[in-house]
This record gives sequence, structure tokens and C-alpha cells, in this order.
Amino acid sequence: MHENGTVYLVGAGPGDPELLTLKATRLLEQADVVVYDRLVSEAVLALIPGGVSRISVGKAAGRHSLTQDEINELLVSLARRGRCVVRLKGGDPFVFGRGSEEALHLRRRGIAFEVVPGITAAVACSAYAGVPLTHRGLSRGVQMVTGHFRDDEPIDLDWPSLADPDATLVIYMGLANLARISNELLSAGLAPGTPALAVQSGTTPVQQRLLATLGDLPRRVAAAGLSAPLLVVIGRTVSLADELDWYLTSEEQVHAAPDRIVRA
Ligand code: SAH
Repeated sequence: MHENGTVYLVGAGPGDPELLTLKATRLLEQADVVVYDRLVSEAVLALIPGGVSRISVGKAAGRHSLTQDEINELLVSLARRGRCVVRLKGGDPFVFGRGSEEALHLRRRGIAFEVVPGITAAVACSAYAGVPLTHRGLSRGVQMVTGHFRDDEPIDLDWPSLADPDATLVIYMGLANLARISNELLSAGLAPGTPALAVQSGTTPVQQRLLATLGDLPRRVAAAGLSAPLLVVIGRTVSLADELDWYLTSEEQVHAAPDRIVRA
């Protein structure tokens, strides 16, 4: 009989591998097996040592993703075989990451676990887009919500409280419902001219940043053909984005690619 292994629920951050914590990096080196989602970036996966088994449980072209129940069972069975398991998740495991569902399952099965926080998309993508989440005089708080709902479900968010001009609103998984979300916020009284930001693949070399207003965000995002993973930030602090821009935009990255650099 093996002793049960431990499952580490580890946040991989938003994409840039240098945003991993020291603890996450150490655990990747100590792991017997890494179970990861689609959201974990290639650059982070590249840090997993060659001898460590990797199991992808996210959707990928042509392959079916595991259900949450199947993932839960997989973690239990790997731990029962005595493995040191790193369950690697994009961003933070406890922010829209179902890490807590996995932790509850492990606890109920008597499997030891630890949680390693990661930098969540709201914090990282806004920073890399030059947008502070709070700023004296512009925003005194942050609300983070999911914009993901099934088609047949009403979006049951508390729109009047989300339409707060004094707080920054961050929407995860909002792409598919962006028009509905924008309309609800406008109906709840948020001004159409409220600055709005969409960030695609934030903190990666192909990050795209789109600056708009609440009123025209859905149309602009569609026109730009932006795709997931997409984070939306709405509020007055977005007005600082031009002045605080510091990370290369994808266009600049293309021009800075080594074979494209023309030296005078
Ligand atoms: N646990 C993750 C969130 C998982 S939900 C975290 O803490 O960040 C998935 C959603 O997160 C995506 O639909 C998108 O809205 C957001 N997201 C995660 N990484 C992102 C990135 N690099 N760029 C833009 N959005 C991102």
C-alpha cells in the first residue's frame, strides 16, 4: 500500500511564466504528475521538467475535455497511487477556477491538499493593459463577476449594484454575452460613455488591448474579432490606460520580432 500523495491546487497565473510564484515553480519541479487546463499557457507548461507526466483535462482541438466529476476522480486516483499531484489552473485556483470544488471533493475523500494562489486575470490583465483596478478619486472598489450563463438562463446578476460608477467592474468569461451585459448595465443606469477595456490573452506576447466605452464595447469587440480568453474591465480607471500603457501591444510585438527589426 502506498501512502496517499498530496494534491497541490496551484495557480499558474494569466500566461506570462514570470508571474508564477516561487512556490508554484518549486512544486512543478517536485511533481510526479501535472494535471492542467486549457487556460495554462504554453510558456508555463514549458517549465514542467521533462520527466514529469502531464495530463491535459481541458478542451483541445478534436479531443473531449473531462467533466468536473471525472477530473475530481482523476485527482483522487492519482493521489491514492501515492503521486505528488500538481493541479495547475490558469490565474488563481479559487477565482472562477473550480479549485474549491476540487478541494471539497479531495477533503471528502480524505486526500490531503494545499492551495497555492496565483495572480488572477483581473489583477494581471488590467496591470498589463495599463489600468489600475482602484485609483484615488476614480474607483474605490472592485467587483469581479462571471458573464458566463447558459443560453436558456436569465443572467441573474444584481445589475443595479454592478452599475456603480465609483467601482471598477471586471467580467470574466463575458465574451459570448457581451451585448446582453452591456445593455443590462446601461439599463441599470451606468453611463454609455463609461470607459471600457477588453484584453485578449493578457500578459502573453499576443496580448491585445481594446479601449472603448460601455456603449460601443460589444460592437468594437466583434469588429476587432477578439476571442477567448477575454477579460472585460469597465469603469473610470480605464481612462488611464493610454497614459499608463507600458506593455507591448501585439502590433508592436510583431514589429519587434527579431527578423523584423531594421537597424539604421
Ligand atoms: N482562475 C482564472 C479564471 C478562470 S475563468 C483566474 O483566476 O484568472 C476563465 C476566464 O478568465 C476567461 O474567460 C477570461 O475571462 C479570464 N482570463 C484568464 N486568463 C486570461 C488572460 N490571459 N487574458 C484574458 N482573460 C483571461
